[in-house]
Amino acid sequence: MSIPYGRQEISEADIAAVVAVLRSDFLTQGPVVSQFERSVANYCGVQHAVAVNSATSALHIACLALGVGPGDCVWTSAITFVASANCALYCGASIDFVDIDPRTYNMSVERLAEKLKLAETAGTLPKVVIPVHLCGQPCDMEAIHALGAHYGFKIIEDASHAIGGKYKDEPVGNCRYSDISIFSFHPVKIITSGEGGMAVTNDASLARSMQLLRSHGISNAPEDMISHPAQEIWNYQQIGLGFNYRMTDIQAALGLSQMQRLDEFVSKRHALAARYNERLADLPLATPWQHPDSYSAYHLYVIRVDQKAGSNKAIYQALHQAGVLANLHYIPVYRHPYYESLGFKQGYCGDAEKYYISAITLPLFPGLGYELQEKVIETLGDVIQEET
Ligand SMILES: *Cc1c(COP(=O)(O)O)cnc(C)c1O
Repeated sequence: MSIPYGRQEISEADIAAVVAVLRSDFLTQGPVVSQFERSVANYCGVQHAVAVNSATSALHIACLALGVGPGDCVWTSAITFVASANCALYCGASIDFVDIDPRTYNMSVERLAEKLKLAETAGTLPKVVIPVHLCGQPCDMEAIHALGAHYGFKIIEDASHAIGGKYKDEPVGNCRYSDISIFSFHPVKIITSGEGGMAVTNDASLARSMQLLRSHGISNAPEDMISHPAQEIWNYQQIGLGFNYRMTDIQAALGLSQMQRLDEFVSKRHALAARYNERLADLPLATPWQHPDSYSAYHLYVIRVDQKAGSNKAIYQALHQAGVLANLHYIPVYRHPYYESLGFKQGYCGDAEKYYISAITLPLFPGLGYELQEKVIETLGDVIQEET
């Protein structure tokens, strides 16, 4: 039996919640979507939440709501999932990458500050910056927010890994230091709705724009109607160009039910991470460094192997051979062939590239359990011994 790097945790209560929707009148556009939105908004201490069918969709409509379009530039971290960058391209904007902090693997504030200074001189400042809370560890949001205030860019937090985490003792997603935060509910993430995502904000007009964008740009609110001919029997109007990015009530029911166990999931991840830290301490590798301001949601447990322990590729392959399905999060986005075709070259972000050749994601999910974790630890020990 092989051990995946991540997987969902589904309870009988989750199943019952989904079945209840299946027996109800509304499979979509019913009441459960807004209940899920309320639940996440209350948890995060944020005013508005807009549920959509994926975090990728959330990133897209967040960029559009902030006015990103042709001629604009968006910056994100070099080490992230491709969706954090693709959203800019969907809007016809250009994308650029900021190198990482070699300790947290999040966007480096120093690199960001340097790059902004150069961009100011060149007249190429970004419209939006998208910091990514990699592995669930929050970025240095206070510093990024201060740079945003100075240079006039907006901020979208890609918190796909980070629901349930805290920054300076406050929940990730409260948008104290950003305009919009987005979450993913893909099954490998902290909580799941099958597929699904959410954008949260304290700005009512951004929330309204995102609500319109997720559903064709259609409104049935009388105050939105452009004209009110008395003879019209249509009760809605399309007032902008939107998409069908809606979440179903089936998905929302699963997500809402999972919210009840969010804190439990994150504490289990912490317990497993603490045990990895302790048991891996003597191996030639670096365990994940945690900034004192952050309480990670621990979506991922990433180790970095010492060069004397072999390449991460050899260790990755040996782990797979033994049934431990370690992973790599991530290749620098700009090293993908599509991004290279846009002109990005190897060597662009030095610390991201060093990370890429040494990082390995070990299995971490609430249901991993000590026995399976023991197998991962022993296998890794053996594999590293062989490589040295
Ligand atoms: C998973 C992920 C996304 C996309 O999430 P989906 O819900 O699968 O669209 C975006 N950004 C990051 C950092 C992710 O890990």
